[in-house]
Amino acid sequence: KKILFVFGTRPEGIKMAPVIKAFQKEATIETTVCVTGQHREMLDQVLEFFQIIPDYDLNVMKEEQTLYSLTAIIITKLKDVLEEYRPDYVFVHGDTTTAMAASIAAFYFGTKIGHIEAGLRTFNNRSPFPEEANRRITSVIADYHFAPTLTSKNNLLSENINPDTIVVTGNTVIDALFESLSIIEAGEFPEIETLKTKIPVDASIILVTGHRRENHVGGFIRICEALKEIALKNPDMILVYPVHLNPNVKNTVYKILSGISNIYLMAPLNYPAFVWLMNRSKLIITDSGGVQEEAPSLGKPVLVMRDTTERPEAVLAGTVILVGTESDKIVSQTQKLIDNPDFYNEMSTLHNPYGDGKASAKIVAFIKENIAMQNCIV
Ligand code: UDP
Repeated sequence: KKILFVFGTRPEGIKMAPVIKAFQKEATIETTVCVTGQHREMLDQVLEFFQIIPDYDLNVMKEEQTLYSLTAIIITKLKDVLEEYRPDYVFVHGDTTTAMAASIAAFYFGTKIGHIEAGLRTFNNRSPFPEEANRRITSVIADYHFAPTLTSKNNLLSENINPDTIVVTGNTVIDALFESLSIIEAGEFPEIETLKTKIPVDASIILVTGHRRENHVGGFIRICEALKEIALKNPDMILVYPVHLNPNVKNTVYKILSGISNIYLMAPLNYPAFVWLMNRSKLIITDSGGVQEEAPSLGKPVLVMRDTTERPEAVLAGTVILVGTESDKIVSQTQKLIDNPDFYNEMSTLHNPYGDGKASAKIVAFIKENIAMQNCIV
C-alpha cells in the first residue's frame, strides 16, 4: 500500500516527521512525501533535521500570494501528483490551507484521507482567519481522524463523524520532541553551539515566540510593550525571542524591542536549537499552538498570548495560562511565575495532556489494521 504525505509549514513538518519515520519502518507500506512549501525556509530546516527528502515539491509560494491562488495552485498541482503516484492514502495535518486543499484534491481523486491532529475547534465559525474553516472542511471529507485528545474526539463525535474512524493518539509533536532530544544529545549542532556562546551559562531565560495573524495589528504592539516592561522589571533575566519571518510580526517587534540589553532578538531558530532553548528556559511566553503542546513535557510553564484557544486541554490541565494580549495581564502573570516559587513548581510538574510520545505508533497500528481488514474483504 502507498501513502502520500502532504504538508507545507514548519509545524506540519515537525508533527508529520515522526509519523513518516514510523511508516518508513513498515516493509509492506510505501511512503512518499509531497511538500507544498507554504513555509519555505522554515520547513526546509525541519526536513533537513529529520532527514526527510521530499519526493515532490510543489513550491507554491510567490510574492503577495493570496488564499484564493494558494488553494487553487495546491489543488491543481496535487492532481498531477495523485495521477502519477496513485496513493492508497493521503495524509494531511492540522488546519493549514495546505491540509484543506490537499484533502479536497484527494477527495476528488477518490483516495482515502487520514487527518492527523483532527478535531481541534475554536467554535468560532465567523473568524476572519482560515484555520477553523480549514480544519472543519478537512474533517468533513477525511476518512480517518487521528485526534490528539479525548476532547478533540468528542468535538468530532458532536459533528456526527463515525466513531469507528476516530483514533485518540496523543499529539505527534511529543514524538518529535522526544526523538529530537535524543538526536541532539547524540550529535553536535552548530546553531546550538552558537546559542551557548550567546547565552550566559547561569542566565535565567524567558523564551518568547509569536506569529498569529489575529495578533498582527494591535496585539503585537501590546505584547511588545509587555515584554519591554518584563525586561525592565527583571534585569537579572534574559528574554530570548526568535522572531517569526512574517513582516507584520518582524517590523513591530524590532521597532519596539531593539536596543534593550536583556532582550535578545534573533531569526527563527532551527528545530533542534529551539528545542534546546525550550529545555534551557525557565518559562515560555507564546501564541504558538505547538509550543504549548511541547513545553509541558519539558516541565516549562507556558503563558499563551491569545483570547481564544482550540487547545482547552492545556488550560484545564493547568500547564498553560491564557493571558490574552493586554500588556497588564501578560506582565502580572509572568511576574507571578517569577516571584512565586510554589506556583512555578506546581505548574512545571503537571501532567502533559498531549500524550506520551507514542502517537505515531498508534497511527501506524490503525492503518495496518485497516489494510488487513481491506485484504480480508477482498
Ligand atoms: N519552532 C522552531 N523554531 C522557532 C520557533 C518555533 O523550530 O524559532 C518550532 C516549535 O518547537 C514548534 C513549532 O515550531 O514545534 C511551532 O510552530 P509555530 O509556532 O510557527 O506554529 P503553530 O504551532 O502555532 O501552528
